[in-house]
Amino acid sequence: MPLHIETPLIESRALSLCAGRSIWLKLEAMQPPGSFKIRGIGTACEEYVRRGARRFISSSGGNAGIAVAYAGRCLSVPVAVAVPETTSERAKDLIRQEGAQVIVHGGSWQEANTLAQAMVGESDAFLHPFDDPLLWQGHATLIDEVARSGPTPDAVVLSVGGGGLLSGIVEGLRRNGWADVPIIAVETEGASSFAQSIRAGYRVTLEKITSIATSLGAKQVCEQAFAYSKEYPIRSVVVSDKAAVLACERFLSDQRILVEPACGAALALAYDSAPEITEFKTVMFVVCGGVTATVEQLSLGRAAKTRPRAAKNNLRR
Ligand SMILES: *Cc1c(COP(=O)(O)O)cnc(C)c1O
Repeated sequence: MPLHIETPLIESRALSLCAGRSIWLKLEAMQPPGSFKIRGIGTACEEYVRRGARRFISSSGGNAGIAVAYAGRCLSVPVAVAVPETTSERAKDLIRQEGAQVIVHGGSWQEANTLAQAMVGESDAFLHPFDDPLLWQGHATLIDEVARSGPTPDAVVLSVGGGGLLSGIVEGLRRNGWADVPIIAVETEGASSFAQSIRAGYRVTLEKITSIATSLGAKQVCEQAFAYSKEYPIRSVVVSDKAAVLACERFLSDQRILVEPACGAALALAYDSAPEITEFKTVMFVVCGGVTATVEQLSLGRAAKTRPRAAKNNLRR
């Protein structure tokens, strides 16, 4: 039994009307730990247990850390997650809720990650948030499900952080005989390491992440994702934070599902009827989900982008 669930695949009337074409949603927000991450992390955790792992270690204060904590609870394997001081109370609570140990260390993810790496003993497994072939194998199950139940999409739209999801979706499309289905890979300004790498012709390392979509905040995409950008039909699109947040708000109202701006970035292409999707009839969106956003943060994020003063007042209240 895998640790992820088979998620609903639905045609959205609201988004189809907005985009003027058939929009299908693969609802990864419905995964028990709130995002697609459990597909890959669950697969990797089960494999590491088979290889003898007795503890899981992660350095992600986001959806990856929450997925590792969830997997550990399901498999009765203890989990330690090292996170920097900047991690929100909410994220730490979500990890602790799964019974995992949270170790707060350092002012940045790099410092927390260094500690996590140093903690990895012989019988421990370190779970990377996006750069591990086992993760991609697990993420690919998303496409297996679509191939079994859904329409054949003319294109797949997804968000890109470190490129783990992208790598898994390419693997899934290939293993289901859909290697000609193009992917539209979306990032936000301030987290566009994939778009910039394609433009530069090498893997660019961003100096810092300035986007509100923190789950897309990998400074450098994994080698596999960059390699796929040269050998698979992938179009890269960058949207503004504002477009991502607005898409989250509209999605909440249309589908009654709250997702992170990391996911709103992809959805923005449907809401804005972006030129990148207009040549396709049936488009499938990976609703990657994410649990670190709240309704309050979304309205703050929107206010900050549109009315700087109002945002400050909101924060003080
Ligand atoms: C991790 C994550 C992403 C990005 O996935 P990568 O594999 O890092 O590209 C996008 N959205 C959400 C909600 C995530 O948790």
